[in-house]
Amino acid sequence: MATLKTIKELGDIRGKKVLLRVDFNVPISKTDGKTITDDGRIRAELPTIKELLAAGASVIIMTHLGRPKPQSAFEVESEFSLAPVAKRLNELLNVSVEFATDTVGEDARNKVEMLKSGQILLLENLRFNQAETSKDALQRAEFAQKLADMADIFVSDGFGVVHRKHTSVYDVAKLLPAVSGKLVQKEVEALSKVMDNPGRPLTVVLGGSKVSDKLGVIVNLLKIADNILVGGGMAYTFLAVLGYEIGTSLLEADQIETVKGYIQQAKERNIKLLLPADVVVAKEFPASETGDAELEGVFVSDAIPADKMGLDIGPETRKQFAQVIENSKTVIWNGPAGVFEKSAYAGGTSAIATALVHAKLKGAFTVIGGGDSAAAVRILDNCETGKPFSEDDFSHISTGGGASLEFLEGIALPGIEVLSE
Ligand code: AMP
Repeated sequence: MATLKTIKELGDIRGKKVLLRVDFNVPISKTDGKTITDDGRIRAELPTIKELLAAGASVIIMTHLGRPKPQSAFEVESEFSLAPVAKRLNELLNVSVEFATDTVGEDARNKVEMLKSGQILLLENLRFNQAETSKDALQRAEFAQKLADMADIFVSDGFGVVHRKHTSVYDVAKLLPAVSGKLVQKEVEALSKVMDNPGRPLTVVLGGSKVSDKLGVIVNLLKIADNILVGGGMAYTFLAVLGYEIGTSLLEADQIETVKGYIQQAKERNIKLLLPADVVVAKEFPASETGDAELEGVFVSDAIPADKMGLDIGPETRKQFAQVIENSKTVIWNGPAGVFEKSAYAGGTSAIATALVHAKLKGAFTVIGGGDSAAAVRILDNCETGKPFSEDDFSHISTGGGASLEFLEGIALPGIEVLSE
């Protein structure tokens, strides 16, 4: 991975207008439509914003939120408005944040005109513009020009979107001096450290619902891992390959041959591949909030009753996985070990996170690869202390689910490539 240019390399940026792409795609409460339920992505961006302000620049922040579907070139859908984000950013920074009700329209342009050194303007949701995500390069180029016309410099710091060839990620970087922000730097450094130069043993912990979502990642990690631990829904296709009775657990029949190949490769490459030795089962996928009512106990993984479904790794598996994790020098974790959203099936995921905490204390470099595993450590407690996990419990928690997966697959990310050109 090429080294990325930093803000410092831009030299004196006093008085310059910086267009900053961030990923403030935060969850907003469905109940009141304005409370941000997890502001982790906004907090993760504060160091870059502070650096730009301290250097005397003014900052025009742009991001998307959710998946609006504009029916015309520009259309506001109030449920995806960034107004609550402007308010939260204001509170976190203690600097007043101006908000533009459009992106490259009259309001944005007037407010950019008035913007002075040390001031911040947040543009309305980029995806209110059809052009932002358009497949038509000309349409994107036109929108990119309008964005670029408002600023002197482009800083790319939305790691969660660097795998997308979108206007604000890719095209605009071709029109202005473009560098990466502190978050993109940190993400690329952490993930590169795992992929290029890991301390060994390197343990990969995989989970989540489907094997088919992570084929590329598995192929690439099979080249470098010492240990691979598989939990979550994807484990059942592996168990089925071994000929185990997996009851009604998640099975991807069309992936059987592929998974057979993985097991074979792991054997040939002397990789320790650990699958669940026991699982927590229920009669059906839990509908209740806690899932407790459906919980039907723990079974060894080659004896899951035909009418039961595995929803978490069992206590013996947690012990085995923890032992491998705690004896590793590098750990990369992607995908929960069970249906962690329901407390009855969150124990395995919490045990893995707790083992990562121990590994880090023993000097390992531990990375959580974004998406659901990152969400899990924010809502679950350490299974030994009963207290919530903190950011410092792990060496790095990625802010990008899809982006970090593609990075681990070894795919060139357009938003990163364009900065290295
Ligand atoms: P992914 O987005 O692929 O990382 O998958 C995350 C989802 O996998 C979470 O919503 C979990 O609830 C789900 N999951 C984890 N374990 C299982 C399982 N044993 N059966 C079904 N779904 C699962």
